[in-house]
Amino acid sequence: MPALARLIGAVAPSLGLNWVILTGVGGHFPYRSHPEVVGADPIAVAAARRLARLARENGIRLAPTYNCLGHQSFREKPGALLRCHPEFNEAPDLDMTAFEFDNFMSWCPNHPEVNRLVCDLIDELMDGFEADALHVGMDEVFVIGQCPRCKGTPPAELFAKAVNDLHEHVVGRRGAEMQMWGDRLLPPTFGYSMWESSHNQTESAVDLIPTDIVVCDWHYELKDDYPSVRYLQEKGFRVWPAGWNEEAAVRRLVEVSRGEATEKMLGYLATTWVEVGALAAELAGETVETDDRDVPKVVSCVRLGAELAGD
Ligand SMILES: [Zn+2]
Repeated sequence: MPALARLIGAVAPSLGLNWVILTGVGGHFPYRSHPEVVGADPIAVAAARRLARLARENGIRLAPTYNCLGHQSFREKPGALLRCHPEFNEAPDLDMTAFEFDNFMSWCPNHPEVNRLVCDLIDELMDGFEADALHVGMDEVFVIGQCPRCKGTPPAELFAKAVNDLHEHVVGRRGAEMQMWGDRLLPPTFGYSMWESSHNQTESAVDLIPTDIVVCDWHYELKDDYPSVRYLQEKGFRVWPAGWNEEAAVRRLVEVSRGEATEKMLGYLATTWVEVGALAAELAGETVETDDRDVPKVVSCVRLGAELAGD
């Protein structure tokens, strides 16, 4: 917790950042409505409120993440939601050790109980962080259309249903902003990998979901062009291009995004995917002992992104 407070209260403002997206909190929040799905070491509600206050005091908007639909497992084991509610598992018999599917169990978007439960969690999470925006994840959904309820429905329609059900709650009922990763909305013809674009027929969901969703268009590798940046704006979405740990790729992504910017362009989102304590310390200028070799690369890229997108 002190690391997150340091990041939000000191490091992010000093770099001129105006948003912090908390990717790890959704599975580790002390949900009172469904205590069975609380993961290990949940953040205290009081701590979440302190972070919310700190963010407000420093001009930073805070969005918690709840990973929806996909990413319901970690290293071949179901996450708390599917462990406690195996009835939501889209493909319980799938071999999760095969083909790098270890982190990619999904819930069934057609299960009659799943949305009610997840929306309870979303309410508690957003109230806890006093958030007016939620990132719903929805990246890298590979397990889709397999259960008896979903079989035979095109993957794009199943994906869009999940997006629309969440949107109805987050935007429709709560009046909040909904953010999601964009990879399942991108056609394979853009030349991106199966991770950062859809090679599993979900891409036409792009025309089946509300355009007031903020689409976080992540691309971590260096490319000449990032055609999705233009495409998603043309489709009517606000677009938030996101890079990671390779300086040349960050530089090019920001360059392309600036070149293609319309009023739908939101800036640059620096993803980190490293432990927050090491991240906050190194961004504050300290040298940290860490086994994670990505930390220094990520730190340079966060600084670079802030510099390039900031002026
Ligand atoms: Zn299903």
